[in-house]
Amino acid sequence: MSDVRIGFARATARSVLSRFRVAKPPTELEPITAHEQLTVKLLQSWPPSVSGLLLRDARLIGLNGQHSRKRRRFSLAHELGHWFMRHDFEWHEAEVTIDSPPSPVSFGKDPIEGEADEFAGELLAPRSFLKDALKKTQDVGALAELFDISDEALWVRLLHHRLL
Ligand SMILES: [Zn+2]
Repeated sequence: MSDVRIGFARATARSVLSRFRVAKPPTELEPITAHEQLTVKLLQSWPPSVSGLLLRDARLIGLNGQHSRKRRRFSLAHELGHWFMRHDFEWHEAEVTIDSPPSPVSFGKDPIEGEADEFAGELLAPRSFLKDALKKTQDVGALAELFDISDEALWVRLLHHRLL
């Protein structure tokens, strides 16, 4: 049983790709955050379990500065998913600051997290781009480089799209 709206998440990612005229990998996230007037801040003091945080009212996205660049890139795409899909969080923004993010255990099972992950995957490795790229190489490491995502994230895309 799942309340994760996979189709909605993918369609939202595809509409963002077309709006920002992303025609080939890798998807650049900076033009998107700049256009949406979102500030991205790296936090060095967060616990390892916290990857990202969107504070919608403040137009602020926090990312864990201790995580690798590729992981931060995925986390940023995930938070953009919350942004574009207009997700409501269980916690209230007034009670949260960028320096004291809510613990992931409190919202880890929320279907909106699955939707944001699916959005992020489709934004960074769209199915159509993946299919094209697979015609040139089946090497996961090379594909991960092309899309600028981790090998793990690339495997998830291939599995979700049944491209293996
Ligand atoms: Zn999330």
